[in-house]
Amino acid sequence: MTPRTDSDSDSDFDFDSGSAADPLLRTFGELYGGDPAGVWAAPGRVNIIGEHTDYNDGFALPMALPQSTRVAARRRDDDLLRLHSAQGDGRITEIPVGGLAPGAVTGWARYPAGAVWALAEAGHAVGGADLHIDSTVPTGAGLSSSAALECAVAVAYDGLYGLDLPGPELARLAQRAENAFAGVPCGIMDQMASVCCVEGAALHLDSRTLDHRHVPFDLATHDLSLLVIDTRVKHDLADGAYAELRAGCERAARLLGLPALRDLPVDRLGEALRALPAELVPLVRHVVTEDARVAEAVVRLVAGDVPALGPLLTAGHASLRDDYRISCAETDLAVEAAVAAGALGARMTGGGFGGSVIALTPAALAPAVTGAVTTAFARAGHRPPGLLHAAPSQGARRLA
Ligand code: ADP
Ligand code: MG
Repeated sequence: MTPRTDSDSDSDFDFDSGSAADPLLRTFGELYGGDPAGVWAAPGRVNIIGEHTDYNDGFALPMALPQSTRVAARRRDDDLLRLHSAQGDGRITEIPVGGLAPGAVTGWARYPAGAVWALAEAGHAVGGADLHIDSTVPTGAGLSSSAALECAVAVAYDGLYGLDLPGPELARLAQRAENAFAGVPCGIMDQMASVCCVEGAALHLDSRTLDHRHVPFDLATHDLSLLVIDTRVKHDLADGAYAELRAGCERAARLLGLPALRDLPVDRLGEALRALPAELVPLVRHVVTEDARVAEAVVRLVAGDVPALGPLLTAGHASLRDDYRISCAETDLAVEAAVAAGALGARMTGGGFGGSVIALTPAALAPAVTGAVTTAFARAGHRPPGLLHAAPSQGARRLA
């Protein structure tokens, strides 16, 4: 892959004044001596619609956040991988690339180490490197800091070792890092968003083929804001609930004689639900109607009707709350408060069990919406939520 070089979207990177001005470069020098060979970045994401569809071979519509994970990196002549993160444990993790195997690295460093392992295991000729990482993506907020980290390291290695891999291949390897090395059974959507998104657009993703297209998502022209409300309730994708839901979907597809739930058209849903055991009905109803909501969202965006996304978001939330049952008091409250204060629509985004909520809001009402959510949280005795304004941003790229 030949990532775009972009100095505009990460305004904290100062090309001219170099290492003295940028803590990323300064810390790299303090840790390893000298300058990195380059700086790469990969963003966090929010999913606009299409939740828990990726592992059903279905569709999603994520966009990259302005917040990103940066990696300052330099190739080594030997096989040693050295990893350090400003958000890590304060130590440098050292391991030979040849010694990487699932279980060999624990803690935060298993995500970046896993990305290098996945490249090596796929047969790419990669050796050692010194890496220092720094991120503005909130961790554990459902905004995919884990994918940003894996993808930033994958794209840095792609550049350092001249691999020139296509974006979807880097995303697949980053997902493999998370699944097989970090031990988290996520789908492909997070990594595809982090690698393949472009500024100003959402990514219409087919999770089966990894075909994707960029759908213009122009908030400014419509005087809209996309608020991201971090409920600060930590979800854990690695826990049993995710695996159970996934297994339920796979069982339903088998019972229906389909390769995946993506192969059940929405107009055959009623008939299919009558053939399934009761406990699988709400799961299948969510997945199939969610794929239909993605298709409808794309139609509305292509028609230039961005405000019409609102009701789809709220309907998607109801489906996650009532059918998929992965919302929680904080995400429900954020959605209700945002819509009551004038948001056109809102939904939880990401794996569930907490995490973040997005709210599509007329820009003029954004302060009222954030105020209403903050007040509702205080009244309910929840911690104050984190608040971000999201603009669709550029995916993984080389910065310097
Ligand atoms: P999310 O991806 O929604 O942010 P996850 O639980 O999947 O939440 O991933 C968060 C974990 O990823 C952190 O606990 C940490 O181990 C790791 N991580 C993410 N970003 C960084 C970073 N910049 N430095 C160190 N570790 C990170
Ligand atoms: Mg994650």
